[in-house]
Amino acid sequence: MEIVDIFAEGCPVQLEDVLKNRDWRVAVQDHLMQHFSTSTVVAVKLNVPGEVKNSPSIKQLFFAGWRLLLSKMSSMAVQKVTVEADRLTGPEGFFVINRELEEVKKEAIRFEEHFFLGRLFDIDVMTLHAPAYQLSRQELGFAPRTCLICSENAKECARSGKHDISALRDNINQIYTDYFVIDPVIPAWDQETVAKAATFACLAEAVTWPKPGLVDPVSNGAHQDMDIYSFLDSSLSLENYFKKCFEAGRTFRGDQLTALLSTIRPSGRFAEGRMFQVTDGVNTHKGTIFSLGILIAAYGYASRNEQSPSLSFVQTVVSRMGAQLVENDLKEKFSPSGLTDSKGDADKKVFKGNANRPSTAGEQQYQDYQLTGVRGEIAGGLRPLSTVGLKTLRESRGTTRVRLLNTLMALATSITDSTMIKRYGDPKISQQLNQWVQEFEARGGAESKGGQDYLASLDQAFIEKNLSMGGAADYLILTIFIGRLTGLL
Ligand SMILES: [Zn+2]
Repeated sequence: MEIVDIFAEGCPVQLEDVLKNRDWRVAVQDHLMQHFSTSTVVAVKLNVPGEVKNSPSIKQLFFAGWRLLLSKMSSMAVQKVTVEADRLTGPEGFFVINRELEEVKKEAIRFEEHFFLGRLFDIDVMTLHAPAYQLSRQELGFAPRTCLICSENAKECARSGKHDISALRDNINQIYTDYFVIDPVIPAWDQETVAKAATFACLAEAVTWPKPGLVDPVSNGAHQDMDIYSFLDSSLSLENYFKKCFEAGRTFRGDQLTALLSTIRPSGRFAEGRMFQVTDGVNTHKGTIFSLGILIAAYGYASRNEQSPSLSFVQTVVSRMGAQLVENDLKEKFSPSGLTDSKGDADKKVFKGNANRPSTAGEQQYQDYQLTGVRGEIAGGLRPLSTVGLKTLRESRGTTRVRLLNTLMALATSITDSTMIKRYGDPKISQQLNQWVQEFEARGGAESKGGQDYLASLDQAFIEKNLSMGGAADYLILTIFIGRLTGLL
């Protein structure tokens, strides 16, 4: 795996810029301390060696840590938050919190020591009212910070210039690649944050436009029975279900992970009922209830005992949970057509009596084409989530909307979309879809005018042909969810 160069897209700064920036920071801190004279001020930045101090990837590192740090402080009263992400001298953030200096400083040190990216961060904690303007790690009984390269005292290494800039940069590039690329690390978040991230993922997918054939705020796409408000209602109705899935994973004991799936299935049926209740009987998120519920339970399980799991471990848990899905839900109930009952007529081939009549598109497609659909994806550990979804999200530049559109389109070609096949009536639609996505990418993707125009024309074409890429939309939701937990969004 190639090491990502996070400095490649950045602009070099002069020493003068750095000095000016230091004055600016001191002014911001003084201002905050005077306005919140009985509170504690926290200043957060990255330690980035060399002339390039900001870039899209450097910002990703910053936000991954910034979000986690703020969430750790959430039990404390945060009074003000400011972030300046685009400064040439590097992203910086400040917050004010109504708690004792020492308590906040200890939390910051725990973050620096335990979070995967913590050692890249520089967190200053200060107040006007405490006797000491700033507390050092040593005063609180912690060891001085160690150097990223040689594990000696970091301050001494910096002072003596022991390591050259290229070695320091290589080290940060390696850390970025380990955290975001090779096998993303997911911090151990609490239940509330996880459920919110999942709900956010549903809402963010819904409001992203223009999505070919899908419901968005501008168009109902190829759906007559629902609109954006159905999706808002439906998304909000799921938060409690997401909490249950997480809790089921966190508290699960045992090795047979198929049992974890059985544990959450009743909650899934209940969530479906609630979805139908708020949408007046329209299926907005059935696929999401299934796949995201399993992903959340898997993450809950993988992050038990406050461990920060890797994405590949979470995916392994997903696949172990779903190990018997294809066998139990499809193979036993529905023999693929053509393989059995070869002397029967067409009707008999499809429906082996009412008891086993395919009730979903997925079941029908297994019977007709032996496609395993979302169950197969689960059994396979939702691979496109890491290989395509998160990768595109990480590499895409521009606004959140642009990044999500690029991610949706990339996902569309990497999965077998059962909604597309159901609506078109033939799996051959996948080849056509691949061509559309290639054309979209050839025109520069969502960040270009050409790509945006093409998306709008695709939306029209999908509406005319009554097509909808519901399966890709489900995968986009999974990607946003994990993107949120790793800090990519
Ligand atoms: Zn060193």
